[in-house]
Amino acid sequence: MARVNPATGEPLEPVATDDGDDVEAALATATEAFDSWRERPVEERAEPIERAGEVLRENVDEYAELMTREMGKPIDSARSEVEKCAWVCDYYAERAPEHLQDRRIGGQSGAKTYVAHEPLGPILAVMPWNFPFWQVFRFAAPHLTAGNVGLLKHASNVPGCSRAIAEVFERAGYPAGVFQSLVVDSDAANEVIADDRVAAVTLTGSERAGRAVAETAGRELKKSVLELGGSDPFVVLDDADLAAAAETGARARCINSGQSCIAAKRFVVHAGVADEFTERLVAEMDSLTVGDPTEEGTDLGPQAREDLLEDLHDQVERSVDAGATVECGGEVLDREGYYYPPTVLTDVPRDAAVATEEVFGPVAAVFEVADEESAVELANDTNLGLGASVWTEDLDRGERLARELDAGCTFVNELVKSDPRLPFGGVKDSGYGRELGRDGIREFVNRKTVWVQ
Ligand code: NDP
Repeated sequence: MARVNPATGEPLEPVATDDGDDVEAALATATEAFDSWRERPVEERAEPIERAGEVLRENVDEYAELMTREMGKPIDSARSEVEKCAWVCDYYAERAPEHLQDRRIGGQSGAKTYVAHEPLGPILAVMPWNFPFWQVFRFAAPHLTAGNVGLLKHASNVPGCSRAIAEVFERAGYPAGVFQSLVVDSDAANEVIADDRVAAVTLTGSERAGRAVAETAGRELKKSVLELGGSDPFVVLDDADLAAAAETGARARCINSGQSCIAAKRFVVHAGVADEFTERLVAEMDSLTVGDPTEEGTDLGPQAREDLLEDLHDQVERSVDAGATVECGGEVLDREGYYYPPTVLTDVPRDAAVATEEVFGPVAAVFEVADEESAVELANDTNLGLGASVWTEDLDRGERLARELDAGCTFVNELVKSDPRLPFGGVKDSGYGRELGRDGIREFVNRKTVWVQ
């Protein structure tokens, strides 16, 4: 598979791919591993996930540097990502037994009735490059602990991360076959989904990839969970703390160099504070450091691939052609690597590319609205519904809006973020199903009703 360092455009040493025989062997191993793994009590399955957390912490620099090399994540954020993976391991090591306890339901004329949570089997995880460790651990920590076994098909530009993650599980002492990395293309992934030995599939990625995977899963009648794109609104009301909103807004837009499904993308601002907020947002965006992702203190590294950089700039150009004004940024940086500067667009027409498409880079689109009602209307005017953030000093007002926004998670006076303890996922074309928390671990289990008379 092609691997290029996005900070320099230079090729990285290739990683061996898996052929049909390797995939067949992995499926056979997964099936065998599942038969014994499922029999272990959950408390026992929770032990190696705790060790996986330790392995991550012991090797934080090695894994962080690998991510930075393969997809350009600034090194500080890469280290934080490894730490967050360790946190999700700790969380499920501690809480999985409680989340998977039998659920007693009384009232059936003296019968003992309850719901048991039993694993389904081998699960394929199709994962993206943007949080190459976190997205995988968010899947693996709950679902391996629930007694399933995992097969990873990672994005083609991060095969090194894919292999390294499999090594984490090996070092943590998991039995062979409980977690395996397959370095294959998407055609092979669809064949794996269709294989009778695979029970279910989860995908994080674009709408296009989600539709393809869901189609295969649907045809094969297999459970799927999809975490797709977002075009998250960041709503700033007239009573918001503008300094805090602008500082957090810039950070929320530029997280992971702008390549996050839950980055703030559309800034929906009350007309009474629009000028001041925009001025502050531009200043905050301009203050971010763009540069070498291996250097400490860099806020934004390169975009992960050249084609993604080109797509991003094309979205900006089409929006400007449609009438948007560039307040800062707006041009590909003239240096080696795939760098795009923090960019703010105002006067954005409702049908411009940055309003209607997922914008996966540091480009903020600002929209002015007359009142609260129009803010909700504009915020919900998208086919996507992952996260949303509302800024106001009136917490009742904020909470009311949080309930009115069409999204899987809404935050008041805080940026949208994932947390191992809380369910995460979207509505509309952002996908279905939930990850994390108790809801997440119960996605890939047989909620078996047991009646004992
Ligand atoms: P993709 O959605 O294409 O990639 C995500 C994963 O899906 C990769 O493992 C990819 O494999 C796999 N995949 C792609 N197509 C199929 C298919 N038909 N069947 C099975 N698996 C498939 O994302 P891109 O890297 O191409 O990025 C394009 C855009 O997607 C971004 O600009 C962004 O808007 C969005 N995106 C959203 C993410 C999110 O977190 N919501 C994450 C990544 C991207 P392979 O790499 O081999 O193609």
